Amino acid sequence: MKTQVLDKSQVDIAARILKNGGVVGIPTETVYGLATDALNGEAVKKIFQAKGRPMDNPLIVHIADYSDIEKYNLVREIPESAEKLAKAFWPGPLTIIMKRTDVIPPEVSAGLDTVAIRFPAHPLAQQIIKAAGTPLAAPSANLSGSPSPTTARHVLNDMDGRIDAVLDGGASEVGVESTVITLAADVPRVLRPGGVTVEELREALGEVEVDDAVIHQLKEGAVAASPGMKYKHYAPKANVLLLKGGDEAYISYVNAHAADDVCALCCDEDLLLLKVKTVSLGRRGDYLTHARHLFDCLRRIDENKTICTVYSRLPSVEGVGLAVYNRLIRAAGFEVIDLEAL
Ligand code: AMP
Ligand code: MG
Repeated sequence: MKTQVLDKSQVDIAARILKNGGVVGIPTETVYGLATDALNGEAVKKIFQAKGRPMDNPLIVHIADYSDIEKYNLVREIPESAEKLAKAFWPGPLTIIMKRTDVIPPEVSAGLDTVAIRFPAHPLAQQIIKAAGTPLAAPSANLSGSPSPTTARHVLNDMDGRIDAVLDGGASEVGVESTVITLAADVPRVLRPGGVTVEELREALGEVEVDDAVIHQLKEGAVAASPGMKYKHYAPKANVLLLKGGDEAYISYVNAHAADDVCALCCDEDLLLLKVKTVSLGRRGDYLTHARHLFDCLRRIDENKTICTVYSRLPSVEGVGLAVYNRLIRAAGFEVIDLEAL
């Protein structure tokens, strides 16, 4: 299959492909998505094939207006808390899980009785959904397990020849996937941290729980509330090791392990102090910038094929830092070296 690269003047071509049951990589403000018609089960199957995604991992349904939830009869009822969240955070990087109707194909819900819905803020994403005339199922447009794509080039690196087209809308602003919150539990619960922070959600809703799997490894045999959280994920080919400790301890540990095949995923302030190859996430403490650069940094590390080991600090769990923590700890297969315990 030849993958067409479209620009922002070619939304109509992308929409036509989607209406005909094809797969298009689309820009969103979080990461690039791999989109198909969410109400066409046969089309949705192509996403799983293109990504190599396990069939038990459900997909997020993207809408172009809050009213689309009722228009397409996607959920059994809209809880009051969903209205509050929509008012506060939509369009934007928040996915809301509610009880689904039978309109949702089993391929999208992966056998669950719920559906995850998001109204993205990216103008091109909104235009494509509207022009396609249907909600779009769109997981991140990477091969399953690898870092998510934040540019059209990243999508092509993974998907060239596997999908019909990719629409180039520039680099994604947020850089990590949406926050996923379920309203199908007694208390609203965050299943995946992302662009909207837990602190902001608590301000809007009051009590909000954070699922254990956000920062901890699931115990053997445990059922994942969010199936995507149980897989090793976001990982570059090089081995990622997370170092827990202060800035000085981090720098001395990395310098003590300097070698040609070592790279530090670090902050701007560390660049002159480190004696190994470096890739910077941005200034210390600037978690929004770290999130925006994270996947591009991981992909750049892989482009240098000589790198075998990546040393990164264990990120903060504050604000958007929690989303970076959640991605990096999975990229590292939960391997953390405690520098204070050495
Ligand atoms: P991605 O499509 O790569 O952004 O990943 C979507 C994430 O949302 C995965 O971790 C899924 O497991 C999760 N997800 C989607 N739908 C549901 C649902 N109905 N219930 C729980 N988690 C969901
Ligand atoms: Mg993904």
